[in-house]
Amino acid sequence: MIRVLIFNEFIEEKTRENVKAVYPNGIHECLREALCEEFEVKTVTQDDENCGITKEVLDNTDVLLWWAHAGHTTVPDEVADLVHDAVLRGMGAIFLHSSHYAKPFKKLMGTSCSLHWREDGDFERVWVINPAHPIAQGIGEYLYIEHEETYGEPFDIPQPDQEVFIGAYEGGEVFRSGCCFLRGNGKVFYFQPGHETFPVYYNEQVRKVLRNAVRWCYNSYRIPEITCPHVTKPQD
Ligand code: ZN
Repeated sequence: MIRVLIFNEFIEEKTRENVKAVYPNGIHECLREALCEEFEVKTVTQDDENCGITKEVLDNTDVLLWWAHAGHTTVPDEVADLVHDAVLRGMGAIFLHSSHYAKPFKKLMGTSCSLHWREDGDFERVWVINPAHPIAQGIGEYLYIEHEETYGEPFDIPQPDQEVFIGAYEGGEVFRSGCCFLRGNGKVFYFQPGHETFPVYYNEQVRKVLRNAVRWCYNSYRIPEITCPHVTKPQD
């Protein structure tokens, strides 16, 4: 069984009534609900020491999901380093919505990861632009999200290795909503839907994308540490 670890900062569900109303037990519990029938799921939050992230924890994780917004700067740099290192060694990682600005995502991308945004409650159609891609299976032409925060281009990420979705909003903005990156031995997926005041992670199509993404990010290959070994000449 694929071992999934969900990191949710778990801040605004406790401090903002309009977020608590949507996710009374935290976004991580809603994500767990979406994944737990198929995968072995654990959750950690910023309330845990060192965000609940250690090398040992990540060595026992196949795919990490990351949701964050208000607490990016208070995540220790060491946590970002551990996630970065685990991905290069073979762990999968899925960064959700406002995690475009999370330290480990920015470190994996190497760019600013900035974007344009506004919060009008627009509808969004998340168009499948690569219907053969494993993450798009069972989705149809597009996902419909009744209300979502609008994210717009330019999204300052490196050229993705594969693109799966483009979001189009009521206001006419477009955004690269589903992007795949290969980093070392690991796979990274960025998925834009999931603003905290709208019930996006209850949407069955969104949940299907998350499950597809976990399967796509999974990699049974993992090296214990990154080295740059000196080798001897092959002898035939
Ligand atoms: Zn948001």
